[in-house]
Amino acid sequence: MAEPGSHVADSGEWYESQPIEARHGVFLRLITDLLLNDAVFEGTKPQNGAGGCPVLRWCDPENLAARLAEHRPSADGRPATQEQLLAFVRFVVDYSVKTGHPHFFNQLFSSLDPYGLAGQWLTDALNPSVYTYEVAPVFTLMETEILLSMRKLVYGDNHPSAINGDGIFCPGGSMANGCAINLARFKFAPEVKANGLHGMPRLVLFTSEDAHYSVYKMAALQGLGEDGVIVVKTDSEGRMDVGHLETQIEWAIGKGYAPFMVSATAGTTVLGAFDPLPEISRVCEKYGLWMHVDAAWGGGLLFSRSHRGLLAGIERADSITWNPHKLLAVPQQCSTLLLKHKGILSACHSRSASYLFQKDKFYDTSYDIGDKYLQCGRRVDALKFWMMWKAKGTIGLERHVDKIMDNIKYFVQQLQKRKSFKLVLEKPAFANICFWFVPPRLQGTENSPDYWSQIHKVAPKIKERMMKKGSLMVNYQPLRDWPNFFRFVLQSSGTNQKDMDFVLNEIEQLGKDL
Ligand SMILES: *Cc1c(COP(=O)(O)O)cnc(C)c1O
Repeated sequence: MAEPGSHVADSGEWYESQPIEARHGVFLRLITDLLLNDAVFEGTKPQNGAGGCPVLRWCDPENLAARLAEHRPSADGRPATQEQLLAFVRFVVDYSVKTGHPHFFNQLFSSLDPYGLAGQWLTDALNPSVYTYEVAPVFTLMETEILLSMRKLVYGDNHPSAINGDGIFCPGGSMANGCAINLARFKFAPEVKANGLHGMPRLVLFTSEDAHYSVYKMAALQGLGEDGVIVVKTDSEGRMDVGHLETQIEWAIGKGYAPFMVSATAGTTVLGAFDPLPEISRVCEKYGLWMHVDAAWGGGLLFSRSHRGLLAGIERADSITWNPHKLLAVPQQCSTLLLKHKGILSACHSRSASYLFQKDKFYDTSYDIGDKYLQCGRRVDALKFWMMWKAKGTIGLERHVDKIMDNIKYFVQQLQKRKSFKLVLEKPAFANICFWFVPPRLQGTENSPDYWSQIHKVAPKIKERMMKKGSLMVNYQPLRDWPNFFRFVLQSSGTNQKDMDFVLNEIEQLGKDL
C-alpha cells in the first residue's frame, strides 16, 4: 500500500475495496510474513533459555484498553499509513494469547495446524458463502462430501445411515445442539414449525447434570424454557445414570409433560465422561424419544481404531454434534451436526426464499443446500478440515488422536508419582485430566476441617501466577461439591512428554509457597 491518497500508476483510489498488486502487494506480503514469523512460528515456540515465546503477555483490561486506544481509527477521519497498520498488527499479535503454543491447555481447542491454517487462508482469499451452488460450487460439494465421510466413520462405510443420512456445518457446537433440539421437536410435532408452541403440552428433553450448558440456552431460545430441560444425575465417573433417566421420564409423563428427546454426551466438557449410549438408546426406543449425542469433544476419537470403542452406541443416535475444531485441532470454527434421517433438515428449516433459491434455475437446484440451514450467509468451515484430512490422511488423523491419548496416559502416570497432585477421578476416561494441586503446607492435613476450603483457593492463585508469568495456561473450575480443581486438556499432537513434565513442574514451582 502506498501512502494514503498518493497516486499509484493504475486506476482506482486508496479507499476502494479492490486488491491491486501495485497498491496492496507489498502490504499484504509484509503482513503475511509478519504473521508467519510472529504468530505462527515464533509465537508457538516454547520458551527454553533465551529463545521462544510466552503463551501470553498479560495486561490488565484498563491498560490494554489504553494501548488499544492508540490504534483506533484516526479521530480526524484520515486513513492510516502502512507503518501504522503494521504496528497495529504487531500489537494484536503481541497481546493475543498464543493458543497454538504447546503450553496452552486452557480450553477444548488448541494448537495451530499448518494445513488447517492454509485451508483457512484459502477460504478467506475466496470469501465464499455456502448457500447456493452458483455462488459456492466447490464448497457446496465439499461440505456434502465431508459430512458423508464423517457419517461413514460413525455408521460404517456402506451403512444406509451413512449413505442416506444428512448433516450440516454449524457455527459452533452450541448451535449444533440447538439445531438438534429443533429437529427432534419437529419430528415429534411438525406443526410447531407453523404454530409455535401454542396449544401444546409442555415439551421436555433430558440431559445429564454434566452436559454442556448450551442445551439450556438453546431450550430457552426455542421457547421450551430452561426448565424444559430435565436434569439426570450422573454416576461417580460423571456418566449419565440411566436408571435415573427412566425415573425422570416417568415423572415427566406423570406430570402430563411431553418428552421428546434425550441429549447424551460423549466426552463431557469438564470430566471427559462418556454417557452409556447403548443403554440410553434402549430407553429412547422404549419411550419413542429422539436420541442426540453431543460428541462435540469426543467425536474425533472415531478416527482411532484403538479408542473409538469409547463411543460405542453412537451409531444408534438420531443426531450427533461433532466439533472437528476440538480433538482434531482443525482451526476454529469447525462444528458439525450429523443426522441419520434424510429430508428432515429441509422440512424443518426451509423457507424457499424466492430471491435466493429460485426453482427455475438452469442447474439441479438440489445442490443449493443453503435452505436447509438456519443461517442465510454462511462461512465455509469444511475446506480447512478437508485440507488437513488430505494432507495427513486418515492414518495421520488416527496417529494424531493416538498420540494425544498416549501423552494423556503419560501425564496421569507422572502426576500419580508426585505427592503434591491428586486426581479428581481415579481413572480419567479421556483427554481431560482433572486434578488438585496440594501445596506442601497442606500435605498430610486432609483431616483438618478447612482442608478443602484451603484447596479451593489454590488453583485460582496458581492460575493468576501462570498468566502473569505467561508460562502456561490450564483452566480450573469447581464441580458439584468438589472445590476448584485444574482441568488439563490436550488436543495438540505437537506436545510431547517433556511438555507434560513442564506442566507438573511449573505448577509445583508456582504453588510451592501457597
Ligand atoms: C465445547 C462443547 C460444546 C460447545 O461447542 P462450541 O463450539 O464451543 O459452541 C458443546 N458440547 C460439548 C460437550 C462441548 O465440549
